[in-house]
Amino acid sequence: MAEHESQEFGKADFVLLDSVSLEEFMANLKLRFEKGRIYTYIGEVVVSVNPYRAMNIYGRDTIEQYKGRELYERPPHLFAIADAAYKAMKRRNKDTCIVISGESGAGKTEASKYIMQYIAAITNPGQRAEVERVKNMLLKSNCVLEAFGNAKTNRNDNSSRFGKYMDINFDFKGDPIGGHINNYLLEKSRVIFQQEGERSFHSFYQMVKGGSESLLRSLHVSKDPTAYSYIKVGGQVKSSINDGADFKAVADAMKVIGFTPDEIQTVYKVLATILHLGNLTFGVDGDTTLIENSKVVAVIGVLLATKEENVGKALLYRTVATGRDVIDKQHTTQEASYGRDALAKAMYERMFCWIVGRINDVIEVKNYDAKVHGKNTVIGVLDIYGFEIFQNNSFEQFCINYCNEKLQQLFIQLVLRQEQEEYQREGIPWKHIDYFNNQIIVDLVELQHKGIFSVLDEACMTVGKVTDEVFLQGLNSKLAKHAHYTSRKLSPTDKSLEFDRDFRIRHYAGDVVYSVVGFIDKNKDTLFQDFKRLLYNRLESTHTCYPLSSHPSLSHGPTAAFYDALITTCYPLSSRPPPSLSHGPTVAFYDALITNFSSPLFSPAPLFLPLFSSSPLFLSLRSSNPVLKMMWPEGKLSITEVTKRPLTAATLFKNSMIALVENLACKEPYYVRCIKPNDVKSPLLFEYERCRHQVEYLGLLENVRVRRAGFANRQEYPRFLQRYKMISEFTWPNHDLPSDKEAVKRLVQGCGFEHDVAYGKTKVFVRTPRTLFCLEEQRDEMV
Ligand code: ADP
Ligand code: MG
Repeated sequence: MAEHESQEFGKADFVLLDSVSLEEFMANLKLRFEKGRIYTYIGEVVVSVNPYRAMNIYGRDTIEQYKGRELYERPPHLFAIADAAYKAMKRRNKDTCIVISGESGAGKTEASKYIMQYIAAITNPGQRAEVERVKNMLLKSNCVLEAFGNAKTNRNDNSSRFGKYMDINFDFKGDPIGGHINNYLLEKSRVIFQQEGERSFHSFYQMVKGGSESLLRSLHVSKDPTAYSYIKVGGQVKSSINDGADFKAVADAMKVIGFTPDEIQTVYKVLATILHLGNLTFGVDGDTTLIENSKVVAVIGVLLATKEENVGKALLYRTVATGRDVIDKQHTTQEASYGRDALAKAMYERMFCWIVGRINDVIEVKNYDAKVHGKNTVIGVLDIYGFEIFQNNSFEQFCINYCNEKLQQLFIQLVLRQEQEEYQREGIPWKHIDYFNNQIIVDLVELQHKGIFSVLDEACMTVGKVTDEVFLQGLNSKLAKHAHYTSRKLSPTDKSLEFDRDFRIRHYAGDVVYSVVGFIDKNKDTLFQDFKRLLYNRLESTHTCYPLSSHPSLSHGPTAAFYDALITTCYPLSSRPPPSLSHGPTVAFYDALITNFSSPLFSPAPLFLPLFSSSPLFLSLRSSNPVLKMMWPEGKLSITEVTKRPLTAATLFKNSMIALVENLACKEPYYVRCIKPNDVKSPLLFEYERCRHQVEYLGLLENVRVRRAGFANRQEYPRFLQRYKMISEFTWPNHDLPSDKEAVKRLVQGCGFEHDVAYGKTKVFVRTPRTLFCLEEQRDEMV
């Protein structure tokens, strides 16, 4: 009996379970894991359990076994899914995508790399040099992205701290000719802080441990990572990771990809600057805030190619407009520390995005003329954070879990749609399938005006002091009746929720309590970034300033009255009417403000300086390092481009998720669902409860039900005959019926499965797995 149908290793497809219950599902998953069978199907979905040991199943010989085969012909494997996606792309000219999901440490990134390796291995039989170059770049880009975007966490020694979507483009021959990477929500807070037992991004340790004497000397960096406070917070400076060797591999990969020596040097300079920034401490002398280790400031000045005093000034002062004058106002030590950390985080994030952009420059498809070469098709690979439920869940978890709601929604739509479309194509009646539709939760988060993101944005737009509690009050009043939202105020007896701090969302994957602490700050972050972008351009291009005559409300910083006056001043220059301010400034108000900025007659820079306290921008603005300037591109953007950008972190994230889902929705999807068997990285331990929880929140049972409600299996007539013709005298060795379809009908009748099969135009549909299983058994007896 072929291995994948053998009972000893459990059912190779959950659809083949005798009945669909959680217990049966779990028993099968556990049995297969214990037998070293880490992959199992649900139809065309691969369920994968992290083996936590090297498996001898990714080599050249295995690749050969899967190449060009159909899913059910070989034991379940990632390669089979990769091949299916590739075949759909090549044979049917379809754009496809492979969506890999699961929690941190479940094996997503490893899976994405195996998939890419498989695709690289089976393509370009002609060994064309250009294609080999592209393949090499695509594979090498992983190494660079992981150095800058991954870190050791308590759950995974090589945890991706960003979401990644990578398109691979193919030409008409089916060979890779380029690609594109989108990155999502880098966890930049890690630059300045790590939990106990965790590390910052690999790149820092790699440079400190692997950089040559002369490199480190030029950066004024010592070889001892414990010398740098930003990267030793988690107490995990030493680890099993070989940072020194990785440093060289990453440097080589960057070279291969085409980073210039200047660019690579600048990357090291940014890393070093961040390390030095982390060591800066602020003190007071009388009324003056000062930097205690001023030598470090000089070093940063050199690294950033700017004057020492620019650095000092940017760290200690913000520019404020009072009346007629623009003055420099000193930070408190606390403000200065906050600004320093913000600068470090922003620099790292900018650099990361710039690196992704540079890789994209190099791998993007060039010289491809669709008219000559036919359609250029795509396989997208999505490796993105799975559902997160921690002890303390904040803004980041909220965004990540929203992302998973979106992907679940897509999954529902696509899997159901795919089935439905195929039945229609084949002329088979469609049966309604019942499932939980999580659209209601997606709406709860993203709906305009009513959704949580909108409430958050509104809170952030309010002038005056907004607190996280105000945001929570906003939620409570807008969402009091929502079935998936609650808080202590709405359910006073629920002691698991803290007053004025927590709210709970009933996600499709389970309940999550979020603490609002930090939501406003984290969301605003980008708001200020955007104002900075704006300013950059204005300050660069015009040196003429028109300070508003001394307005009384400015002495204590801008107030509503100030904005009022401003909007009145701006109005004649704007084509839009002023938004109503009777209810305080709204999103529309800010929109209008920004539009007014784009008027050539109006240069409000000094007016807005108070909003841009401790702006990291001013630093880079004055830097003479061209690579560094590229990381801060606002100077190059046109005002219209700038003003089109969304304002808050939540809005940015929401928009990027909507774009991602739109992009995926027009592709034919394949899914890999990763499960983490235990928390101790053990190859032996199958923690039942832990796995059960993941099976539940990945919606796997539902998936099996949907699959079983339809047809478990469908195959084209010739393919079906080829596989089973030996079990019927009418078809073995050949049939003399008018068509393969007739022959299949004859074969099925002979076996007595008539009731369980439907005949489409080109495919035979088998409803229950049992039938398929019997066919396979009979076949095994014959061969
Ligand atoms: P995720 O991206 O889901 O957070 P990773 O793909 O980084 O998780 O996997 C975490 C770790 O688990 C890897 O570093 C590796 O040690 C192990 N692992 C994951 N998948 C496999 C696999 N297929 N074979 C062997 N080890 C694996
Ligand atoms: Mg990962």
